[in-house]
Amino acid sequence: MGTGLFFPPRAKNEPVLAYAPGSPEREEVLRTYREMWNRRIEVPLYIGDREILTEKKKEMHPPHEHAHVLGVFQQAEREHVLQAVEAAMQARKAWAAMPWEQRVSIFLRAADLISGPYRARMNAATMIAQSKTIHQAEIDAVAELADFWRFNAEYLERIYKEQPESAPGEYNRMEYRPLEGFIYAVTPFNFTSIAGNLPTSPAMAGNVVVWKPSASQVYSANMIMEVLREAGLPPGVINMVTGSATKITEAVITHPDFGGLHFTGSTDVFQYLWKRMGENIPNYKAYPRIVGETGGKDFIWMHPSAGVKEVATALARGAFEYQGQKCSAASRAYIPQSKWNDVFAELKKQVDSMKMGAPDDMSNFITAVISEGAFNKITGYIEQARKDPQAEIILGGEYDKSVGYFIRPTVILTTDPHYVTMEEEIFGPVLTVYVYPDGEWKESLDLVDGTSPYGLTGAIFARDRYVIDYATKRLENAAGNFYINDKPTGAVVNRQPFGGARASGTNDKAGSMWNLIRWMSPRAIKENLNPPTDYRYPFLG
Ligand code: NAD
Repeated sequence: MGTGLFFPPRAKNEPVLAYAPGSPEREEVLRTYREMWNRRIEVPLYIGDREILTEKKKEMHPPHEHAHVLGVFQQAEREHVLQAVEAAMQARKAWAAMPWEQRVSIFLRAADLISGPYRARMNAATMIAQSKTIHQAEIDAVAELADFWRFNAEYLERIYKEQPESAPGEYNRMEYRPLEGFIYAVTPFNFTSIAGNLPTSPAMAGNVVVWKPSASQVYSANMIMEVLREAGLPPGVINMVTGSATKITEAVITHPDFGGLHFTGSTDVFQYLWKRMGENIPNYKAYPRIVGETGGKDFIWMHPSAGVKEVATALARGAFEYQGQKCSAASRAYIPQSKWNDVFAELKKQVDSMKMGAPDDMSNFITAVISEGAFNKITGYIEQARKDPQAEIILGGEYDKSVGYFIRPTVILTTDPHYVTMEEEIFGPVLTVYVYPDGEWKESLDLVDGTSPYGLTGAIFARDRYVIDYATKRLENAAGNFYINDKPTGAVVNRQPFGGARASGTNDKAGSMWNLIRWMSPRAIKENLNPPTDYRYPFLG
């Protein structure tokens, strides 16, 4: 059998298309959106080479028109989950033994499919299922997911190339084995790219996976399975099961072959999963790898030396794009007294011009929040702020769920830097501002650092370089993704590897080789080229 050292094509970030009026990509995605909107689908469980329909099903609805039915998805029983585990473990031998250049070619092909013939469908599915504007869908379901697949291939090459030294007379090697069991991928609603990356990054490293997408994202998760199948992913490597999160999790997490968790979602759920893994530790064949990227309470801090317009724009985009439903969304801001009136005037001007409605009307910047549960939670914070004397709603605060789950971008001004909306993750279009006296800018950085349990993203704005240096050091542990004079959202694969610490996760940096390394178990091999034939060392004479 021939062999060689193979290098995947050098990855480049997928260009983001503009979708300007009259452009061919705009026409195509709108046509595809209408076709998909009017066609009901049934999403099966993908287990091994089978597509399984269960007795119990749930309907799928777009958040911006909840009376509309997109189709149904399955409610797996425990036996289905165990079948998914079995299918994964059966596929493992051949998949783990497959040369890596063959494995990654499947995902490189998948990246070309979603940036080519599937582009409009990937975008339309994400616009419909998660209520994203075309721009938010494009940077997520196409650009970021294609980037994950292309760059992960390159990261594997870098890891495999990392080899130990050999002294004279020996030949040392490092083998990067997949983990022995199967990986459980649990994904959130808010990014199709994360839903695609969490099951596939372990699979690219030779692992097999049981994947549970969010109930609010099944419609676009189904597109990912279609694409992976079209790209030639062998049956059983990734098995998608949907239904009750706790029922599925119990069957998976108590299984002796459970080998690792790749999770993105809220902090509470991650902590619950970690606890269940801890309780099951004696039952596992190996200690599971745990990667979890979780919640955030991301900040924008302004120094008096910073420019007003750039801060207001960062607030408008950072807090309200995709209705604040990004783990990185700005949700607390610290503004110096001398600048507040100007920042607010500019922010108000920008936010007042944001149109709200369904994503197929491309003049809308704000679309719906994901579900009735999210709507009720977010509006609960808004109503509480109306009552609390230390809070004042100075922008927005209106909402309506009669057709879709719509909430106007809302700004709360508080006199208490520890007010509840400065501390808790809301995951909606709500920004809380605390105005500090200019002379206390250093103390305000202490507040930024100490106010919430999270440490995901944050941004500082200043022109004074001594201040930038001071704040960068002072906030060293406040954010895993730290921005200077930029909004705290919009991390790009291979440019801003993503993840935070504290209550925000294990900081294993999706979009970098540090994530992939977690799905491998290295084996060090030493071969002696000249084995000794006598036990005596020279010192023995
Ligand atoms: P979520 O925690 O509600 O759900 C995430 C996943 O966990 C879903 O698949 C859900 O079905 C599953 N789940 C829920 N309860 C479970 C249980 N008891 N047992 C097992 N699985 C369970 O989160 P979401 O609403 O889908 O996403 C929003 C959250 O995700 C926010 O907290 C956000 O900050 C976070 N997030 C973080 C990052 C990051 O990179 N740090 C990225 C995106 C989203």
